[in-house]
Amino acid sequence: RQGVVVITGASSGLGLAAAKALAETGKWHVVMACRDFLKAAKAAKGAGMAEGSYTIMHLDLASLDSVRQFVDNFRRAGMPLDSLVCNAAIYRPTARSPTFTADGYEMSVGVNHLGHFLLARLLLDDLQKSDYPSRRLIILGSITGNTNTLAGNIPPKAGLGDLRGLAGGLRGQNGSAMIDGSESFDGAKAYKDSKICNMLTMQELHRRYHEETGITFASLYPGCIATTGLFREHIPLFRLLFPPFQKFITKGFVSEAESGKRLAQVVSDPSLTKSGVYWSWNKDSASFENQLSQEASDPEKARKLWEISEKLVGLA
Ligand code: NDP
Repeated sequence: RQGVVVITGASSGLGLAAAKALAETGKWHVVMACRDFLKAAKAAKGAGMAEGSYTIMHLDLASLDSVRQFVDNFRRAGMPLDSLVCNAAIYRPTARSPTFTADGYEMSVGVNHLGHFLLARLLLDDLQKSDYPSRRLIILGSITGNTNTLAGNIPPKAGLGDLRGLAGGLRGQNGSAMIDGSESFDGAKAYKDSKICNMLTMQELHRRYHEETGITFASLYPGCIATTGLFREHIPLFRLLFPPFQKFITKGFVSEAESGKRLAQVVSDPSLTKSGVYWSWNKDSASFENQLSQEASDPEKARKLWEISEKLVGLA
C-alpha cells in the first residue's frame, strides 16, 4: 500500500519541496499539516502536485489546543500514520522582544519545539499501530544550533544553560522568555536554542522508544536553503546578500528542490533506516551521519528538557 506521511509546515520552502518529491513517487500520500489552509492549497497547486496525492489539514503549532485538534482530525480521517516530519519553524532574527503562543510561551521555542513535542508524543501511538515496514519520526535540526561548526559559532551562539527559563515557562513578563533564563530577549538565539531542543528531542525519543517500537527517529541538516520564507523577517540587505554568500563563499547553498529530495530520502530511502542519527549531505549530495555538538548530544540535558517539556504541554 501507499505510505502516509504527515509533514508540518508543508505550505512553503523545504516542507513543500519534500511534500512534492514524496507525492510524485506515487508511493506516498502526503498530509500537509499547515496553519494557513488557503496558502497550503495554493502552494500545492502552484508546485504542480497531483490532486488526490495530498490532503491538507489545519495545524497551528502556536496553540496546544490546535495540536490536539489536529491529532483528533487526523485519526477521524481514518488514515494510518507511517511517517511524521516535524518541519515547520519560525525564525525572528531581528526581534528584540518576544511574542507568545496561545498558551503563553515564547513563540520560537513554543512553535518549533513545544508544539512539535506534543504532536510527536501524541502521534507516537499512531506510528506504533502502523504495519508499514519502516516507520519514521523525523525532526528538522540545523547547523546553527551546533556550536561544533563554523556556522554554529556565529553569535549569538545557541546555549540552553541549565534550562531555568524553560522551567519557568518562558513567560517573559514574570521571568525569562529565553531557555537559559537570560533577561534580554534575542530572536536569533531563541531560534537556535529551539533547534537544539529539536535535536535533543529526537535523541531522547530514540533512547526511550526505538528498541521497544522499532520506529526510526532521525534529524537532519538539509543544507542552507537560503531562499525560503524562513528569512522573511530578516533585514532586506541580508535577504539580498545571503543567497549569493551561501552559493559562492560558504558553498553550503542548496536549492529548495534539492533539499526537498534530501528530506524525502530521510522519509523513505531504504538505506536510511538507522535510528538516532543526524543526517547531513556532502558536496556531492551523498548523505552521511554527522556529529552533533556536545550540548546537542548531552543525554542528561535531553532528559531534563523532556521532563520540563512534558509539564509545559500538559503531559505530566
Ligand atoms: P519556511 O519559512 O519556508 O517554512 C516554514 C513553514 O513552517 C511554513 O510552512 C510555515 O507556514 C510553517 N509554520 C510557521 N509557523 C507555524 C505554526 N505556528 N503552525 C504551523 N506551521 C507553521 O522555512 P524553511 O522551509 O526554510 O524551514 C523548514 C525547516 O527547515 C525548519 O525546521 C528550519 O529550521 C529547517 N532548516 C532550514 C534551513 C534553511 O536554510 N532554510 C537550514 C536548516 C534547517 P506559513 O507558510 O503559513 O508561514
